[in-house]
This record gives sequence, structure tokens and C-alpha cells, in this order.
Amino acid sequence: MAKGNSLEKIALITDSIEPKALITGLTGQDGSYLAEFLLDKGYEIYGMHRRTSMDVFDRIGYLRKKINLVEGDVTDMGSIVRIIKEIQPNEIYNLAGQSYVPDSWTQPISTMEINSRGPLNILEAIRLINPSIKFYQASTSEMFGKAQEIPQNEGTPFHPRSPYGVSKVFGHYITQNYRESYNLFACSGILFNHESPKRGKQFITRKVSHSVAKIKLDYQDYFEVGNLDSKRDWGYAGDYVEAMWLMLQQDKPQDYVIGTGKTHSVRELIEESFKSAEMALRWKGKGMEEVGEYNNKVVVKVSPKFYRPAEVDFLMSDPSKAKKELGWQAKTSFKELVKMMVESDINQLKEHGLMESDKSKLDINQRV
Ligand code: NDP
Repeated sequence: MAKGNSLEKIALITDSIEPKALITGLTGQDGSYLAEFLLDKGYEIYGMHRRTSMDVFDRIGYLRKKINLVEGDVTDMGSIVRIIKEIQPNEIYNLAGQSYVPDSWTQPISTMEINSRGPLNILEAIRLINPSIKFYQASTSEMFGKAQEIPQNEGTPFHPRSPYGVSKVFGHYITQNYRESYNLFACSGILFNHESPKRGKQFITRKVSHSVAKIKLDYQDYFEVGNLDSKRDWGYAGDYVEAMWLMLQQDKPQDYVIGTGKTHSVRELIEESFKSAEMALRWKGKGMEEVGEYNNKVVVKVSPKFYRPAEVDFLMSDPSKAKKELGWQAKTSFKELVKMMVESDINQLKEHGLMESDKSKLDINQRV
């Protein structure tokens, strides 16, 4: 047989093999959206999850039959090596993280172990086992912290303002360093806040959508928040996972800022959420005394317990590099996102009522 023919045959066989992706943090918000997105692209998915005493597959229940679950922990190098050797993935998306900023002040060491040592363990395993595996690292706008310029782009210096931000700066630089030292195809996506109906209930967007739904359905009288004038660049998680994938499909590995390029305050978030529930909110008073009222009843209060020890300044993305090079831009508007979240929470409460997980931990520890 002519050499050309056999090469063509190999190419055909290779083309027909599904690419394999390993996703760490599969059980989180982004993990579920990414798994869904990659399944649509024809990938074979391996999702890593930690050992827990209870089932934590709420977000991926509907996908479970279509993906392969593997148990491991990013802080445990042995488990990473075992999984990569067994699966031999083409791409690894490292979404595993201690992602809640306020908890990084109360659990700084484990935050560092997961967010800093985690990506290093994976990069080192890739280098030793198969350096052709492509790697995506979940970096964050929290690395900009006390932002040196507005808006922030790939060249903006970092000044993290929380143990979370500091731990992610290490993950970011070690990804860059392995790319430069060992020529790995390793990229960081510097993602600004992205939300969805699957966001954890501690996070401000979901706390607000869920609280508004509970007030609407008479499960709760009011909720408390911290700084009403904190601003964030909020996008939809479903849009952002496409950017992660696009980064790994480029000719050369690079880092990209991903965001909407627009900001909104917590105050606007609350107003828009009540509007989505068809409830007219009115603000009264100033500073710590300010309250939000609906039908002459207080439904929103300000509390110092939800202020951060050190606040990030004005975080707003400049996603122009992603638009130019990846052809990516956010599709879902702030209003659409808020409406989607509030409606989803109202529907869930109508269908299932208040769940046990809705009652616990909700009034403590909730800051932006
Ligand atoms: P979530 O908190 O929803 O999910 C985090 C995931 O990481 C969960 O599946 C969690 O598992 C898993 N995880 C935590 N520790 C470990 C560990 N030691 N080993 C293995 N898995 C672990 O976060 P998101 O989905 O929102 O975010 C994904 C990533 O993107 C995170 O790293 C986050 O820091 C980063 N990021 C997120 C942004 C956002 O706005 N959402 C913005 C910028 C960056 P378990 O279910 O067991 O807890």
C-alpha cells in the first residue's frame, strides 16, 4: 500500500476518535455548563469530583449518564497522576477552586492549597506524563483587586485584595511559567464574575434572586446585604464556557480577559431582581440605615457583617482581545441574566418548596 494512503487512513481514524476532556470542578457552576458545551462539540467527558459524605451531583444530574465520573482531588498529586495516566485526555480544564472570596479569609490555607497547589499539581503531571495535553486555568478578575486602571485588560498589573485573589495569582503565573519553561499549551482565562441559576446561594447574585423569590412567595420577610454601591462586571456562565474552549483551539496558547465590559452595582442588581418578580422596590434612608421597601414593608437591609475586610475597587473588563482573536463576546445582557435567575428561583420554590439546604447557612457569611 502506498505510504500516502496509509497516512490518510490514520488521519481518518484519528479524526473519527472523539477528543477527550478532563474537567476538574465538574460539580460546580462552570463545570456543568462546560460539560454540556463540550458534549455538544462531540467530546468524551471525564469529570473529576471530590469524595464527599453526600451526593453533590445536583448541578449535573441530567448529564450523569453522558459523562464519566472520576474521583480525585487537585490537592492530591497522586490522584491527578493516576487520572491523567488512565484517561490520557487531550484537554484539561482546571475549574476546581475554593471560589468564595469571603471564605478565603476564614480558610486561607486550604484556599491556597486548592487554588495554588492544585494547578501546579496538574501542570507538573502534564509535564511528566504527556506534555502535549492542553491546559486551561480558571483565573479571575479578583487578581486585579485594587485595580491599577479601568477597564482591566491582559496587561493590567495585579493587586489582589483577598487570600482568594492571592492564591489565584499563583495559579495564573505558574500556568504562564510552565508555558514559557516547558512549552506547554497552557492558557489562563481571566474571567470576570459570571452567574446563572446554578450559582451557589452564598454568592450575591444568587442570594438576591433566591431571597426575592422567597419574599415573593412569602417564605421570608427581608434579607441583608453589605455595600450597596459595590460594582461588578456580571455575565452569564453559559456564555463564558465557550471562551474557555476557544482558548484551547487557537494556534498558540495565550491568556485572555473575559467579561461583558459593563458594570452594575449591587443596588441595581436588587432593583432589577425585584422588577423581574414584578415587585416595585423603593429605597429609603442613607448609609447603614438605608432600607428597601415593598408595599411599605422592609425587604432589604444593610448590615456591616456583609462588608469585606478589604474591598476590590472598580472591576470592569476590557474583553477586546477575546473579541478580536477568539471572536468571542458576551451574548446575555445583565437584565436577561437577572430575569433568568429570579424566574428560575421562583419556579423551583413553587415546584419543590423550601429545601433543607435553603434554610441552613443562609444568614451567615454572605458578602459580595
Ligand atoms: P464553584 O464554587 O461553583 O465550583 C468549584 C468546583 O471546584 C466544585 O466542583 C468543587 O467541588 C470543586 N473543588 C473544590 N475544591 C476541590 C478540590 N480540592 N479538588 C477537586 N475539586 C475541588 O465555582 P465556579 O464553577 O463558579 O468557578 C469555577 C472556577 O472558576 C473556580 O476555580 C473559580 O475560582 C473560578 N472563577 C469563577 C468565577 C465566577 O464568577 N464564577 C470568576 C472567575 C474565576 P465540590 O462540589 O466538592 O465543592
